[in-house]
Amino acid sequence: MSLLTLCYIIASVTFIIGLKMLSNPATARNGNLIAAAGMTMAIFGTIFLYSYYEEGVDKPLGNYVWIFGGIIVGSIIGTLAAKRVKMTAMPQMVSMFNGMGGACAALISMVEYDHIIHHTNGEGQTGLLIVILLGLIIGSVSFAGSMIAWGKLDGKIKDFAFPGQHIVNILILLAIVGLSVYLAVNFSPDQSYIFYTILALSLIYGLFFVFPIGGADMPVVISLLNSFTGVAAACGGFLYDNKVMLTGGILVGAAGTLLTVLMCRAMNRSLTNVLIGSFGGGKKGVAGSGSKDQGAVKEITLSDAAVVMSYANKVMIVPGYGLAVAQAQHACHELEKLLDSKGVEVKYAIHPVAGRMPGHMNVLLAEADVPYEKLLEMEQANEEFPTTDVVLILGANDVVNPAAKSDPASPIYGMPILDVEQAKTVIVNKRSMKPGYAGIENDLFFRPKTSMLFGDAKKVLQDLATEIKSI
Ligand code: NDP
Repeated sequence: MSLLTLCYIIASVTFIIGLKMLSNPATARNGNLIAAAGMTMAIFGTIFLYSYYEEGVDKPLGNYVWIFGGIIVGSIIGTLAAKRVKMTAMPQMVSMFNGMGGACAALISMVEYDHIIHHTNGEGQTGLLIVILLGLIIGSVSFAGSMIAWGKLDGKIKDFAFPGQHIVNILILLAIVGLSVYLAVNFSPDQSYIFYTILALSLIYGLFFVFPIGGADMPVVISLLNSFTGVAAACGGFLYDNKVMLTGGILVGAAGTLLTVLMCRAMNRSLTNVLIGSFGGGKKGVAGSGSKDQGAVKEITLSDAAVVMSYANKVMIVPGYGLAVAQAQHACHELEKLLDSKGVEVKYAIHPVAGRMPGHMNVLLAEADVPYEKLLEMEQANEEFPTTDVVLILGANDVVNPAAKSDPASPIYGMPILDVEQAKTVIVNKRSMKPGYAGIENDLFFRPKTSMLFGDAKKVLQDLATEIKSI
């Protein structure tokens, strides 16, 4: 076994171990580092140990200035982007990085197509051509789609759809498949225009595929496109007979598919409904099915909220997107410790799609060193609400909206929610009566058990802590 093969095997194993460790917040950081170390080993192994056979001799890869130039520029941009990004803008960055992966896979296909044209007459290359075309199509759909997803999440691109768009999309897809089959079967070097037409159609398909999908569904789309990029990278692994690229691509493809399925399940929707259902985004800010006159909300003062929580046996905190906006995770942990010191049992109820990306709340609270055992998944939390005295909702809205259970006309109908009303008292902190991401009103705020504590989450939590200390 060559040293390079050994590098690839070790790298593949680190990817699998890293992925496994990523599934638990306590081990996720190390899992990420282990997989990154494996990837570094695979990259440097390829650069220094790979050789190709030409003119009767084994030649090293060469082109070191280009290779290291690219690595240095890419590393600087990647590091700066990752360091500067705000937690709330993380989904956009994931989408952008995913798009770059798709573009790389498409570029590999273009280079290898060029290679076939100039170095062979194309005979006996059908298998290779199929893999090249798959990498080109999937990679460019992923690239174009991810760019639109990035623009939508960043508020730069609005939803766009025209009548019959789904039919146009299907026709484009059929044209891509038809042209690809024709090229793979009847290849001749003077048919590059077909290859580039397929590239153009795939880019257009990527744009049209994501344009009409509602803003709230973008993370599901990104996860799906992420799995596409994985498959496109695996095609690159086939082309170069590179086992680690193949393993990495397959793992990304499989993980992306699983995450997509899990996110759809968490919202109780099918993938088809996500892709053509046009949920959220465009409806943003519109009072939805809950827009009927519901009377006035009841407010609670800081000192009353402090008293209610101090004398409770059990407090359940429900964090949402607003907690991330306010960057109030540290203030939240302080309040939790303070209540703990007064003998109050404090736990967190984490909804799987709270925030704006999978695991958003877990990452946010981990940053503030909240102990993992205090975080309850939705099912566990729902079991504990009936024995909870106070639920403190911090910048969450859709994930506690009872319309998901009771109003079939609501866009979020069927989404499993945190059953906060099972608790004795519900205190909701947000800045106003504005809706959350799905753009719909929330009946919970008008229910008898609920009291509103208006204000920015960080300021409110700090003031609450001061009040509780003085009790
Ligand atoms: P929501 O978007 O429903 O609500 C967030 C609330 O936070 C708003 O109503 C806002 O009200 C409040 N808020 C904003 N800033 C602050 C602040 N500084 N202080 C206090 N409150 C603040 O969030 P949820 O977490 O409840 O739900 C997530 C939504 O995002 C769901 O619809 C989900 O489907 C969707 N989604 C989730 C993804 C995921 O993977 N997690 C991906 C994509 C979408 P106000 O302006 O009045 O303060």
